[in-house]
Amino acid sequence: MVSRIVIAIMFLLPTLVFSLKEPPKVDWDAVARIREEGLQRSQLVDIVGYLTDVLSSRLSLSEHIKKAQTWAKDKMGTIGLTNVQIEPYMDFGNAWDNEYFSIQMLEPTYVPMMGFPLAYTPGTQGKVVCQAVIVEIQTKADCEKYRGKLKDAAVLTSAPLVFDLLNLPRDVTRRTDEELKNLAETVILPGPRVAPPTVPNPELLKPEERIEFLKSEGVAVVLQCDGGSFGYVRGFTRPGANADKWSREKDLASLPMIAVTPEHYNRMYRILKRGIPVKIEVEVRNRIGESVEKACNVIGEIPGTDLKNEVVMIGAHLDCWHESPGASDNAAGCAVALEAARILKAIGVQPRRTIRVVLWSGEEQGLNGSREYVLAHFGDPQKGTKPDYEKFSVYFNQDYGAGAYRGINLQGNERVRRIFTAWMEPFKDMGMTTIALQSVGSTDHVPFDNAGLPAFQFLQDGVGIGGHSNMDVFDTLVPDDLKKNAVIMASFAYHAAMMDQRIPRKPLR
Ligand SMILES: [Zn+2]
Repeated sequence: MVSRIVIAIMFLLPTLVFSLKEPPKVDWDAVARIREEGLQRSQLVDIVGYLTDVLSSRLSLSEHIKKAQTWAKDKMGTIGLTNVQIEPYMDFGNAWDNEYFSIQMLEPTYVPMMGFPLAYTPGTQGKVVCQAVIVEIQTKADCEKYRGKLKDAAVLTSAPLVFDLLNLPRDVTRRTDEELKNLAETVILPGPRVAPPTVPNPELLKPEERIEFLKSEGVAVVLQCDGGSFGYVRGFTRPGANADKWSREKDLASLPMIAVTPEHYNRMYRILKRGIPVKIEVEVRNRIGESVEKACNVIGEIPGTDLKNEVVMIGAHLDCWHESPGASDNAAGCAVALEAARILKAIGVQPRRTIRVVLWSGEEQGLNGSREYVLAHFGDPQKGTKPDYEKFSVYFNQDYGAGAYRGINLQGNERVRRIFTAWMEPFKDMGMTTIALQSVGSTDHVPFDNAGLPAFQFLQDGVGIGGHSNMDVFDTLVPDDLKKNAVIMASFAYHAAMMDQRIPRKPLR
């Protein structure tokens, strides 16, 4: 009997200790000062405006991102951050920049067209004039239909885009109360990490093989349309570039590839289907780096006090694709992180833990900056952890567009529910209300999460749908959303830096 009581007490003890703990504290005075600085003296629009309008697109390793990284380093210095540095993390590949591009239809009528070269493709030999040809190649057998017929042609390789006129994309979609309730009640965990095996069809051509065939046939330019909507150019990179690490040789061995807006692509396609020839003029000048270079992250800190060896991190990725200034993906997130740091410095906080701001690169090519950073600084339980692994508290990331924070994704860690619920309380009036049960992926908190380090992505409204297209521009942003986000990110970072304990970790899977 006695032993049963002892066992029962032992069993209940952790629960009792947990429930008797003080609820997580909110420093309402700090919150008031953060709100005053962030809402009444915000510099966010200036920061995000400079990043998008002046510094422009920021493909990893490009001249543009190098300028943006230097600017970000200077900005961190101006804000008053310390240990500011541009930290190299890996041999990334060869740099690629588009320096000039133009495309027009010359016949049967003159039409200035809108498009963009795909990254990691070569330029044309000056201005070239060529006949457009529709090429429908899926299998090796399809190649035979075109053999000997494509010399100096501009080939249209994708199907025309069908518009859903009743469901055109909108720049702002607010989450409804019902949607937030569902997100708070429905557990969504990541799917299996390994994709189910597929049976390869040896007859189907891989995209790289299709380009190889077109190159061997003497094609001048490849045209394609990758979706989107009216006025959208969607198109990223030549096939195979990630696998060959953006190699100069492979870039040069490929073909000039151009993504064209649906309305112009479809028009060429329809004219050709009538049997009427289409002549186009195109010129692409790309600069391809001579040697492999290291990619870099930009880092700055607000030093801690009694727990200065422990770290709380905030950040976003500075790199984007090359066809737009990446306003929502992700100048917005970078501006929010910089503004959050500026707010904290401006109000003179003395955080217990060090607050570190990181602007990643290489995210768009596969979370390279954050993955290498986690490995280098914290390690991984599978491969061995570094001393700083135990000094890490939490990372907060923004990368789901430019919409207002409506809550935070729990990432499968029930241990933080009470803490985040308390920290959201001062921002309910801003619509920050929901602990979403989702475990979300696809961005820079993932390498932390995979290594067992607490890292979170805020739950956001849908603002700035132009991501990964030429339409991801300043004009699609909602400045008030971003001002609020900076205030919330500053407050979360501050509270995490002031807690007695580090943010609790979930058990490693
Ligand atoms: Zn992004």
